[in-house]
Amino acid sequence: MARSDLVRILQAAVPDTVRITRRRIEDVRPLRDEADLLLGADGTHSLVRRSGWPGAAARSHGVTVLRGTADIDPPEVAETWGGGWLVGITPLAGATRTGTAPAGTNWFACLPEHRTPSVAEDLAHLRDVVGGRRAPIETLLDAIRPETTLVHGIHTVPAIAPVRQNVALLGDAAHAMAPNLGHGANTALEDADALAAALRERSSIPAALRDYALRRAAVDQAWRLGSAVMLQMAMMQSRAGLRDRALRRIASLGPL
Ligand SMILES: Cc1cc2nc3c(=O)[nH]c(=O)nc-3n(C[C@H](O)[C@H](O)[C@H](O)COP(=O)(O)OP(=O)(O)OC[C@H]3O[C@@H](n4cnc5c(N)ncnc54)[C@H](O)[C@@H]3O)c2cc1C
Repeated sequence: MARSDLVRILQAAVPDTVRITRRRIEDVRPLRDEADLLLGADGTHSLVRRSGWPGAAARSHGVTVLRGTADIDPPEVAETWGGGWLVGITPLAGATRTGTAPAGTNWFACLPEHRTPSVAEDLAHLRDVVGGRRAPIETLLDAIRPETTLVHGIHTVPAIAPVRQNVALLGDAAHAMAPNLGHGANTALEDADALAAALRERSSIPAALRDYALRRAAVDQAWRLGSAVMLQMAMMQSRAGLRDRALRRIASLGPL
């Protein structure tokens, strides 16, 4: 699903009784002191978390992600793991081929940390690392453009309890994870659902927050750890051959 569609659906579901104010929050203390409950759903570098959970700053995985869209039909739908890099190619969500117009491709790549002053140079570095390996990746490399490419790092939040006094964290604020299991937004939605249910079902906010932490903390941390393991497996450099042989052996066993 395209992120913009998801955001539109969620925004349309907000009841009219909710008062929405759009501004950047620089200090959460006045909000926390005035409110019965403060929810920090403010992402990986959450100000709410930094205000109430000292030492829980997001940490870098030491990799650079390049991702974007390309104006071609997907040359394949696959994720290729090399020795210290990965490249993923998927169809652009919701796009279909019309006449001769291509359907559009969504792509992502992960490399050991390497940033340059410009996206064009970042793409040149990507071509140096992953070029000449597989025909579908070559087709993709020919089609990708700086203006439709994003470059960023991957950060993870250390293991923390998602509740302190009258403050609860959810989504990336509570457990930002590597993207390699494709589960960050899913866990954010599940957190919101669990928190809403706990607030409906429990008679007090402290009881609801205890319930929320019990329902979500272990599950969220399991996804966070699993995602980190998957990132490390995908980005293995010196033991990539061993990894590939082990995966081929598992695949040869057939469906379990
Ligand atoms: C490369 C990549 C691929 C991914 N692929 C997938 C995938 O396939 N499937 C999946 O489920 N997840 C995926 N994710 C993860 C997913 O994007 C996140 O887990 C999800 O966006 C988290 O939602 P969130 O609402 O917790 O945080 P965010 O989406 O980061 O939203 C936080 C919001 O808080 C606002 N905010 C922050 N600070 C302040 C402030 N001080 N004042 C006011 N507002 C503030 C921000 O502007 C933002 O709107 C991927 C992530 C990456 C990086």
